[in-house]
Amino acid sequence: MIISGHFIDGRWQSATDQSLIEVHNPATGQIVGAVVAGDQSAVNQAVLAATRGFQAWAATPMPERIALVDALAAGLAEHRDEIAETLSAEMGAPIAFARAAQVGVAIADLNALAAAAKAHVEREAVSNSLVVSEPVGVVGAITPWNFPLHQIMLKVGAALLAGCTVVLKPSEVAPLNAVLIGRILDEIGLPAGVVNIVFGDGAGVGAPLAAHPDIDMVTFTGSRMVGEAVARAASATITKVALELGGKSAAIILDDAPLESAARDVLRSCFANSGQTCAALTRALVPAHLKDAWGQAIIAEAANWVPDDPAQEQTILGPLASELQKERVLAHIRAAIDEGARLIVGGAEPVGLEGAYVRPTVFADVTPDMAIFREEVFGPVLAVTTYTTEDEAVALANDSDYGLAGGVWSADPQRALAVALRVRTGTIGINGAGLDVGAPFGGYKQSGVGREAGTRGFEEFLEFKAVMGASSLV
Ligand code: NAD
Repeated sequence: MIISGHFIDGRWQSATDQSLIEVHNPATGQIVGAVVAGDQSAVNQAVLAATRGFQAWAATPMPERIALVDALAAGLAEHRDEIAETLSAEMGAPIAFARAAQVGVAIADLNALAAAAKAHVEREAVSNSLVVSEPVGVVGAITPWNFPLHQIMLKVGAALLAGCTVVLKPSEVAPLNAVLIGRILDEIGLPAGVVNIVFGDGAGVGAPLAAHPDIDMVTFTGSRMVGEAVARAASATITKVALELGGKSAAIILDDAPLESAARDVLRSCFANSGQTCAALTRALVPAHLKDAWGQAIIAEAANWVPDDPAQEQTILGPLASELQKERVLAHIRAAIDEGARLIVGGAEPVGLEGAYVRPTVFADVTPDMAIFREEVFGPVLAVTTYTTEDEAVALANDSDYGLAGGVWSADPQRALAVALRVRTGTIGINGAGLDVGAPFGGYKQSGVGREAGTRGFEEFLEFKAVMGASSLV
């Protein structure tokens, strides 16, 4: 069992005689570890260490920074099984999914970021100036529990490559994978103070970190509401902010789309990771005249999604990450039933397993005035809405405060592309294409500010300085 203190200035602090946050396995309720509950003083120590470490790290040549990030990726690969088992135990991801998607995507993130850094031109002549990129400085990174390793790597990997130092505050729901990350950073010889990890909850550690005057940038992934609080706290010192918030992303099924494969793709997006994916396609927009055929395709496909023990190799649907998240999702399901959405799969009845399980659920006849059309559920719940014209489908997709992701299905990829270009979201997949870690990821509207992953995600951690009159001095 992992019991951990903070990792500050290259040293693990003791966890004894400290107040601890227990970590529970959502499938069994058992305690699987604990981390120290940090406070303002731990944040101050970590920010000081990151500030002291900044100049030397920023001056470290790019090839050396890339070599360390490559070593971090190799460390994740080497410890893949242990990390996947830890993740599965702390947030309920099925073990095969944890290995392939949770850890696999994190490694791919680092590889794509390292490739972006390799291709980056640090100095170039622009107009009459020499334009030089420099690291933003000390970064505060606040991350959630749904893809914890991936979300940490998008921030920490990009910051390290850019020459920034970091204070990381992982989610208190799933912090144990971050302990393993700290151990790998130790193993690969990252200089002290370059990455510091402070454990704790939002009020104890997240809020003081976001408000800290010596932080140069806050990068946050999590809920829309906390994102707003983080942006407000950072605004007192005009600190740069990157926010990756929620979504209510639409799958537009055009009338020539192959229904079976579209149903399979949409349910995979909506149900994988128990629906706890910010870019999940949670609204399906289907042609009104195909409503019944689509409903049948969905019901047939949903039968494959059976909740089960995440420790079993064949399980594809585990519990939610916590009892609290289960209660939130059940409240959404009950509210949707109350407001008249037609339940065609699942519902709020118990699954029949101990643990934070809910039934994968699909509502038909969902209309834009219903909460289930608008609110992020963060559970395996799909809302199906019908449309009559392509224009109406685009309008429904765009009828959201969010703008994170989307999908379009058509037998004609050009037609799908034309529709995709009209949807106001940061990413959109054609015919089932999913996350691309080499491309920018982020949201329009209330889904966030800034981009993560690949070249754009790396560049978020840079400042650009124009040295005027120096264009010939490249
Ligand atoms: P959250 O937004 O409450 O927490 C995310 C991170 O922010 C955690 O590390 C948390 O400790 C920290 N935090 C909380 N309050 C803070 C504050 N005032 N200042 C600074 N940091 C603070 O998310 P959650 O509780 O983990 O999940 C709640 C909901 O958020 C979910 O139901 C879901 O809708 C959404 N969510 C979205 C994403 C996403 O990727 N977009 C990820 C996780 C959760």
